[in-house]
Amino acid sequence: MRIAMISEHASPLAALGGADAGGQNTHVAELSAAMAGLGHDVRVYTRRDDTDLPAEVGTGDGVTVVHVPAGPAEALTKDELLPHMGVFARWMAGQWLAGDWAPDVVHAHFWMSGLAAVEAARHVDAPVVQTFHALGSVKRRHQGAQDTSPAVRVSAERAICRSVGRVVAQCTDEVAELVRLGVRRSKIIVVPSGVNQRRFTPDGPAVDRTPGLRRLLTVGRLVPRKGFEEIIHALRYVPDAECVIVGGPPAAELAADPYARHLTRLAATAGVADRVRLAGAVPAADMAAWYRSADAVVAAPWYEPFGLTPLEAMACGVPVVATAVGGLTDTVVDGVTGDLVPPRDPRRLGAAMRGLLDDGMRRLAYGAAALDRARQCYHWSRTAARLEAVYRDLRPATRPSEVLAG
Ligand code: UDP
Repeated sequence: MRIAMISEHASPLAALGGADAGGQNTHVAELSAAMAGLGHDVRVYTRRDDTDLPAEVGTGDGVTVVHVPAGPAEALTKDELLPHMGVFARWMAGQWLAGDWAPDVVHAHFWMSGLAAVEAARHVDAPVVQTFHALGSVKRRHQGAQDTSPAVRVSAERAICRSVGRVVAQCTDEVAELVRLGVRRSKIIVVPSGVNQRRFTPDGPAVDRTPGLRRLLTVGRLVPRKGFEEIIHALRYVPDAECVIVGGPPAAELAADPYARHLTRLAATAGVADRVRLAGAVPAADMAAWYRSADAVVAAPWYEPFGLTPLEAMACGVPVVATAVGGLTDTVVDGVTGDLVPPRDPRRLGAAMRGLLDDGMRRLAYGAAALDRARQCYHWSRTAARLEAVYRDLRPATRPSEVLAG
């Protein structure tokens, strides 16, 4: 199959950790590589955000990344992209109509990609599959006035769901959110992300430890909803432990980052400044060494559409303390691979962190069960095979010309 992956802001080639570069980038990169591994012809369409980017580039996994000229060739936040989605769609449709490559199926990632995908795909009669990665309705519920998404986001997400052939939810919790949005249950299929099992393994180098301190590691874009403030507060209940925060801008630029400065000030106010360390962005290839260096990984988001980082830790055999939200309630099995606590509750979080650090046997048991679970349930080839079946199912139903020809 010729598969067009649309990922307007999240390029599979981007450096991760910054404000708009994280799980979606990893997901699109890994899924596309796995689809290419199944023999499909995969192109990823992402916005050209730098004049130095070539029009097309191979990833080395058999995937071609196409840089779409839509809006200025410079970095824009994702909240600024909506006005450029019309151009994005027309450019893709023009290429597909004029050239020798047109998709058999279009898979859109994030809501704005969905808008562009639906518009472009109708020109070539291709079915569209949608993965939201994050829903505007959930974001608004949790962030209220802080939510800077365009006002039309939720109604656009509803319209996309009506137009596309299938909506892929990444976890069970997202199904309920989609149904609440008015999506027919039969249109939704749950297909979780995977984890790169070659990169994330228990064996291999580990980053140096700080003598005399147990290590808790947390990873993510430096945004409030990831719960770093709660983790810093919780550290007050955990003696002899440090918390390393990976993510954000590169280490050299942390001092200028307003949220990194806020976290540093908070650590001082909470009396744990000597035990909180911001490491900045880490290249994807070095992430496993950081997970392996930790006694436990903590993920304390307010909400989380999927949450790759706890799964990456699990694949490294590291136990997880997480908040019981979104995808984390599917990946982390409470009392088996880790501990789940309510979100935004530093006291409960601190008790869980301390309990796990104080119990070496439980850490070993959780780590082994976490590794088993990651290996058995979250392989990218499994995710790709399930989505391949979704794509194949759609084609006859939505491409009448092919049914007639067959
Ligand atoms: N990541 C990375 N370097 C960093 C911070 C994060 O490579 O400095 C990667 C991390 O390994 C994971 C992704 O970014 O693959 C974050 O995904 P997650 O689903 O946890 O969060 P999201 O960014 O989707 O909110």
